[in-house]
Amino acid sequence: MAESRKLRMGMVGGGPGAFIGPVHRMAAELDGKIELVAGAFSQTAERSRAAGERFGIDPARAYADYRQMFDAESKRADGIDMVVIATPNHLHLPVALAALEAGIPVMSDKPATATYNEALQLEAAVARAGLPYGLTHTYAGYGMVREARAICAAGKLGAIRKVAVEYFQGWMSQPVETTGHKQAAWRADPAQNGMGGSIGDIGTHAFHLLEYVSGLEVTEINATLRHVVPGRRLDDDCNAFVRLSNGAGGTLACSQVAAGELNELRLRIYGDKGSIDWRQQDPNRLIVKWQNGPEEIHHAATGYLGADALAVARVPAGHPEGYIEAFAVLYREFADALVEWKQGNTNPLPATLPGIVAGVRGMRFILRAIESSERENWVAF
Ligand code: NAD
Repeated sequence: MAESRKLRMGMVGGGPGAFIGPVHRMAAELDGKIELVAGAFSQTAERSRAAGERFGIDPARAYADYRQMFDAESKRADGIDMVVIATPNHLHLPVALAALEAGIPVMSDKPATATYNEALQLEAAVARAGLPYGLTHTYAGYGMVREARAICAAGKLGAIRKVAVEYFQGWMSQPVETTGHKQAAWRADPAQNGMGGSIGDIGTHAFHLLEYVSGLEVTEINATLRHVVPGRRLDDDCNAFVRLSNGAGGTLACSQVAAGELNELRLRIYGDKGSIDWRQQDPNRLIVKWQNGPEEIHHAATGYLGADALAVARVPAGHPEGYIEAFAVLYREFADALVEWKQGNTNPLPATLPGIVAGVRGMRFILRAIESSERENWVAF
């Protein structure tokens, strides 16, 4: 539905030197539906002000902290329509709660919170507030992920029997958190990262992708978490077996000590007729293999794809879209939903956009993986 003006966005986090904040800003503004107008970008007032200046926003709207921002913005006639949370994980809950209390819809980065109990608290707060809440599981924004999802939903692979999802990175192979590496420092600290190490940071993406594409739910898990780098307090490696709601079995592995790997997220799903294979580092191609037919390569933005995949293509086939564009798909869906919500639709979020349900499941995945690893056994989900 059309809106005559851009939606006004506030941001918490994403200050100088941040990793994902700039990605959020680019993605939010890519489709011309959202503009950044305010922020509490950093831990200190000076850094927040400096960031605001760099981003070209009104200096009065670069706030010292997020509470001040919600307070001031909710009093303005042209106050923010939404806030994005791009801070370390321990702040996701308090910032989201403060925004919801101020009547401001939330787009949060993952994981939803730092602990499972916090996720339940957030779920209740979202329901109470009746405000849109989106969660940026980036990989859900890729056209070929949407195509794989549609192939599974249409039953084209036959009965799904096995899934394999893996997310391997190598950047924490050494104790980089002790060298002043900003992103590693909070990720290695349970007080800021939360209960899970690699399972919270990237395992939740793998878990979400598995359920999002297969349409199945994990019902049991048997995980082994390891702290490979000496002295590290949170897991940096996970190998897990999973059982799914239709009886299928699978594996979920993630690691931040897989030396040499960059961002190797890969999903394979096997039915009794065929299978899909998608890799994040080659995101515009989906491999479909048939038991009784030749292997196929499906390319993004081609006319033979389904409606869900075509809906997110911005440029013709052969002109690759990537990480920022996938992120922007989530923002576009959130912006459209927000306009509908403003027009009275109380349930505007599309099923393709991850939200609070995915957030709670992701946190439950972390909890159950830890429980299973401690018990060295299967646990029910
Ligand atoms: P980062 O350390 O690079 O950035 C965090 C930012 O938050 C910094 O600018 C810091 O100054 C700011 N901050 C800290 N405390 C603050 C406060 N009290 N008020 C305002 N700002 C504050 O971290 P990052 O790697 O960008 O990760 C941030 C979040 O994004 C994490 O939750 C992470 O899990 C998530 N993330 C998601 C993806 C994805 O693919 N969706 C990728 C990377 C990171």
